[in-house]
Amino acid sequence: MKPQVFFIRVAEGEDDGAVERKIGRLYSSAGFDPFVAKGETVAMKTHFGEKGNTTHIRANHVRQIIKKIKAAGGKPYLTETSVLYKSKRSNALDHILLAIEHGFGYDKMGAPIIMADGFLGNWEREIEINGEYYTSVSVAGDALAPDKLFIVSHATGHLASGLGAALKNLGMGLSSRKGKLNQHSQAAPAVKPTACTLCGKCIRWCPAEAVVERDGKAFILTEKCIGCGECIAVCAFDAVGFEWDQTSEVLQKKMVEHACAICREKKDRIAYVTFLTSMTRDCDCMTSKTKLIDDIGIVASFDPVAIDTATLDLTARFAGENLSRLSYPQYDPLVQVRHAEKLGMGSMAYELVEVE
Ligand code: SF4
Ligand code: SF4
Repeated sequence: MKPQVFFIRVAEGEDDGAVERKIGRLYSSAGFDPFVAKGETVAMKTHFGEKGNTTHIRANHVRQIIKKIKAAGGKPYLTETSVLYKSKRSNALDHILLAIEHGFGYDKMGAPIIMADGFLGNWEREIEINGEYYTSVSVAGDALAPDKLFIVSHATGHLASGLGAALKNLGMGLSSRKGKLNQHSQAAPAVKPTACTLCGKCIRWCPAEAVVERDGKAFILTEKCIGCGECIAVCAFDAVGFEWDQTSEVLQKKMVEHACAICREKKDRIAYVTFLTSMTRDCDCMTSKTKLIDDIGIVASFDPVAIDTATLDLTARFAGENLSRLSYPQYDPLVQVRHAEKLGMGSMAYELVEVE
């Protein structure tokens, strides 16, 4: 039987109260009510948005899921991990303070924030996986601690993987710092000297001190580079790039192998909700505020492969091209989806069930 993906439409500019009620209906229609049992701990992995980002999932929308978990007698909490690059999200304290600033504090959510990878992102555990790239992967130390896990994702484009949705939120988002480094390790960018003005921003920004000045231009020391991609993001002159064709594919597959390890350990204990609203070219680690597509709706499923396939299909249906093609057309986001299917994480063939 094909996995089901439940879909509720949200119109551009729709009243927020109406959207909140729709989240509750979607939750019940997707079969999530009996998923959480009384007394169970339930982690909700989401993304609180980088400082200055205003298009991340809204706290009041996540709160609707928390309310449903509590109604079933579950004990929900929000969880996240530290990012690799210099930012307000690179350690637990600053990350939590930023989350509170973005409305995710206990007073508003009724659920605490517990970072899954410790104070500095290095609390981790190894999970064996017989993948194409790894025999074992490093995930956040408490990624497997809760009884149940909700992966609450915001669909966006992504500068390295083409699509940022459920598989990425799980694979990259719940890996430890080492796991994130491992996923990026083959992705060393290079500076195009003709475009570089030596403004110095990438040199100041690089978390690994891998960018130096050489012959009047920025130059990346590949042996020091951790492949975080920050220099690409901060350069206003489009002077930094990856070897995209190869590295995007490798990154996507590595990301999926981290996700797969968690899926196998928590078999049948993960549910997915993805918001196809406020969709931007870049993920919520960036401050991009320009929406690429009018709001479409929200999807929910127990299958990460099906929900990401549906995300691509629905954006193509409503916007003419899928989210990845509209964001970074040079990448094929189906690499991650196909790899996940090959590893047995789910199915690209799914049944879409529209919820009123
Ligand atoms: S940010 Fe761009 S222009 Fe500025 S030094 Fe770095 S590569 Fe050159
Ligand atoms: S050179 Fe760029 S990709 Fe490499 S570590 Fe520095 S900021 Fe990250």
